[in-house]
Amino acid sequence: MSFSKLSSLVYSTETGRLCPVCEQPVAECNCKKNAIPEGDGIVRVSRETKGRKGAGVTLVKGVLATEEDLKQLCSLLKKRCGVGGAVKDFVIEIQGDKRDQVIAELEKQGYKVKRAGG
Ligand SMILES: [Zn+2]
Repeated sequence: MSFSKLSSLVYSTETGRLCPVCEQPVAECNCKKNAIPEGDGIVRVSRETKGRKGAGVTLVKGVLATEEDLKQLCSLLKKRCGVGGAVKDFVIEIQGDKRDQVIAELEKQGYKVKRAGG
């Protein structure tokens, strides 16, 4: 391996993961803010208890919207369910088993919703 190859390897290790779109370090790029995930448009609501306390969390996947829009949808769902929640990697997490309320609210908003998993 040549020295220049070696140094470019070190460089990319130091900067961390690069964004595949703009090739900037992920921490510095703005692409994710405007990114919309790809999918079939069907919103999947499931529950995850693994590694969680109590009733676990309700996960909402497949909403094809930017992170900003997902955050707005998340706060709406939090208000409806009266619990906390967060958006992580385009997945909305609502505390507790709120699948029924979440599905009802999403359908009211016009989403095509499917109950997934356990
Ligand atoms: Zn980027």
